[in-house]
Amino acid sequence: MSVTRPAGLAEAVSLADLCTLGVGGPARYYVRAGSADAAARAAAWASAEGLPLLILGGGSNLVVSDDGFPGLALHLLVRGVDAVEADGSVELTAGAGEPWDPLVERAVAAGWAGVECLSGIPGFVGATPLQNVGAYGQDVSETITRVRALDLRTGAVQDLGREACGFGYRDSRFKREDRGRYVILGVTYRLRPGGEPSIQYADLERRLAAQGVRAPTLADTRRAVIDVRRGKSMVIDPDDPNRRSVGSFFMNPVVSADEAGRIEADLRASGTLAASDRMPAFPAGDGRTKLSAAWLIERAGLRRGYRRGNAAISTNHTLAIVNCGGATAHEVVGLAREIRDRVRDRFGVALAPEPVFVGLTL
Ligand SMILES: Cc1cc2nc3c(=O)[nH]c(=O)nc-3n(C[C@H](O)[C@H](O)[C@H](O)COP(=O)(O)OP(=O)(O)OC[C@H]3O[C@@H](n4cnc5c(N)ncnc54)[C@H](O)[C@@H]3O)c2cc1C
Repeated sequence: MSVTRPAGLAEAVSLADLCTLGVGGPARYYVRAGSADAAARAAAWASAEGLPLLILGGGSNLVVSDDGFPGLALHLLVRGVDAVEADGSVELTAGAGEPWDPLVERAVAAGWAGVECLSGIPGFVGATPLQNVGAYGQDVSETITRVRALDLRTGAVQDLGREACGFGYRDSRFKREDRGRYVILGVTYRLRPGGEPSIQYADLERRLAAQGVRAPTLADTRRAVIDVRRGKSMVIDPDDPNRRSVGSFFMNPVVSADEAGRIEADLRASGTLAASDRMPAFPAGDGRTKLSAAWLIERAGLRRGYRRGNAAISTNHTLAIVNCGGATAHEVVGLAREIRDRVRDRFGVALAPEPVFVGLTL
């Protein structure tokens, strides 16, 4: 493969403008790739020039340093959607650059169950396997059957089955051991035509009940999910002052059952938790317990709207850090460190961040 300068290469492109959080300095180089070949050529050029590579989708899960990115930001815009029905299911394949929510809308309109609870999530298809995108008890690892990816180590395009993706809670091999190795080109989801919606969360049940919906359809479920999300500023609305975020900044911590019991007992002993109240805790498999990061943050004394410079905890969602306008990455990370440290000091629990950091660490 010849290593020519990619067509359309731009220099000093603001990453703040390409990320929903709206912070971050410029990328030294930036190029859009609308095909697997264009992506491969751009990646080969970056490698030949000794430049680091940043794959960019919708920019909704990135916290970029104020110094920017010293290499090539490759904006993956491979489009195309294809649906094939076989054996009672539908294999829905989409290019990595397809916006996620319109794909969900299309599946719901066609009556294909499996992604309805993932309505309203920003970003592109290509990033969904990366952190095994999930919400309201559903995640993409339940439906993904194939991830088509360019392996930057070998230059080959491969199809990886679900088992090969190493999915976990907001996690996969693409985020962990193979971070930076693959450019995801497309993803296939297996959906259930005529399937029932999955309603596992009390928030969602309450919203449907309030709307008088007794036997929710996929469309009812999608509407309720978007309504609930809107109330938490978890859909991007240009009129919402909490709109500049990466969604949840921290994952819900998973601890041993003993640890969860110790935390709850400490809270009761200190009078923070009344005898009649329970600490939110959910079974997470293998005898482990998932705690609510938002609940812990609030009990550590940090409230919605708490502000540090131009960064703040969303007034609608304790887990989201927002750029109130004019924030720097430094301010966002400063606030995130304060939250993490307060929870650690109060409960001995380590909160892990959900977004991907570029040129920064927490
Ligand atoms: C308001 C709001 C609500 C959100 N709610 C949720 C939620 O409910 N559940 C949830 O799971 N997430 C949520 N998120 C986080 C985010 O939307 C998802 O993680 C989304 O999948 C990120 O997609 P993206 O295209 O914007 O990725 P980007 O932010 O562009 O990239 C994220 C990471 O993926 C890598 N990447 C992107 N595309 C590719 C590719 N094609 N190949 C290889 N690597 C790639 C990037 O290099 C980066 O490391 C929310 C974010 C916001 C702003």
